Amino acid sequence: MIHHCCHLMTLYIDDEDMIVLYVPKFRQYGIQVLDGGSSYIEIKYCPWCGSKLPESLRDRWLEELEKLGLEFGSPEIPEKYKTDLWWNTGD
Ligand SMILES: [Zn+2]
Repeated sequence: MIHHCCHLMTLYIDDEDMIVLYVPKFRQYGIQVLDGGSSYIEIKYCPWCGSKLPESLRDRWLEELEKLGLEFGSPEIPEKYKTDLWWNTGD
């Protein structure tokens, strides 16, 4: 279970009707683009408490997959790379 910077961030991320989202596999926060797709715009600071959010791991994620010879969207991507299990050791 990840701890977000503040109560409001946690509240809004847990609320599926809100446009703020958290992508566990990339440790990335974003604002949804309401075009019916799954795009979002990354945010680097919390809109409510102003905290700097943790560095996104998206580039590292892509590097890890590259090492496995896999590409973004490949059906062979191991389960742990679909969640935060590949970086979040639980502490
Ligand atoms: Zn916050």
